[in-house]
Amino acid sequence: MISLQRHDSVIALRMARSFLGRPIYWTAAYWVDGLLIDSGPPVTARALVQEMRKLGLKQIVVTHAHEDHIGGLHQLRRAFPDVPIYAPLASLPIIQDPRLLGQQLHRRLLWGRPKGVADVQPLGTEVRTERHVFHVVETPGHTRDHVSFFEPKHRWLFCGDAFIGGRDRAWTPESEMFGTISSLRTLAALRPQRLFPGSGTVRRTALPELHGKIGQYLALCRDVAQLERLGLPEEEMVERLLGGEPALHYWSLGHFSARHLIQACRRYNELFEQRDPPDGASRSGRRPRRRPSRNDPSAPRSHRAGR
Ligand SMILES: [Zn+2]
Repeated sequence: MISLQRHDSVIALRMARSFLGRPIYWTAAYWVDGLLIDSGPPVTARALVQEMRKLGLKQIVVTHAHEDHIGGLHQLRRAFPDVPIYAPLASLPIIQDPRLLGQQLHRRLLWGRPKGVADVQPLGTEVRTERHVFHVVETPGHTRDHVSFFEPKHRWLFCGDAFIGGRDRAWTPESEMFGTISSLRTLAALRPQRLFPGSGTVRRTALPELHGKIGQYLALCRDVAQLERLGLPEEEMVERLLGGEPALHYWSLGHFSARHLIQACRRYNELFEQRDPPDGASRSGRRPRRRPSRNDPSAPRSHRAGR
């Protein structure tokens, strides 16, 4: 299933495998001025090729090497052998050999199995079309290889999965909290006016959305730190802070998990913890007093950096 929406001169191509005529889970690619940003999953690749034949395709870029973003590349390469494809340098091994994704069964069923594409070139610092210049912004966190594309004239931001709307209930072990929050801060610093995320739900209130997401993650990290000081185990944090494991946890056989999200918060908090020196310099046996860091999520709100 593929659905097109126009946003000024940008066309959002939302794609999903359908079941009984209903989409299961949307992902999106965007077309603007002959440039295709991301390529959807393998299951909708043929429909995407048909749309590109109508719109005209001059070049392709991808934000990161997940199967719902690189899955259309193989069919696009066969249909458009001369169109250049660019991807982050760190994405290239997976694009060439998608078996490196280690897709679990639920991912193969939901998106299909991508096939390798050999002649993909590494992205530079910008991508030019006839009317636009897109700056390549490194935004790791969701994955290590993730980049976003920023068009400063219209302040459009194509952010892939660096921003995922709604309230997070479960993460994969691949995602990392410090990178995710840092990347959202980087994206907010660009002061975008329109957000084009991997979900396909285009946002006109880009800055409040980005700041809201940063605040959501910082609040969760702070809550995890507080429960950790009370000595609560992770299962209890999952129950209290996230309402238990979501259904996604069970049908992804644990790949998506509330516990992974809690663990990502704990690793984030560890970055700001001050531990006793390893040589036992704290002879009193008490933890040294410390000034709260501005970025310390366990610190009182007045000491932390703005959200
Ligand atoms: Zn992704």
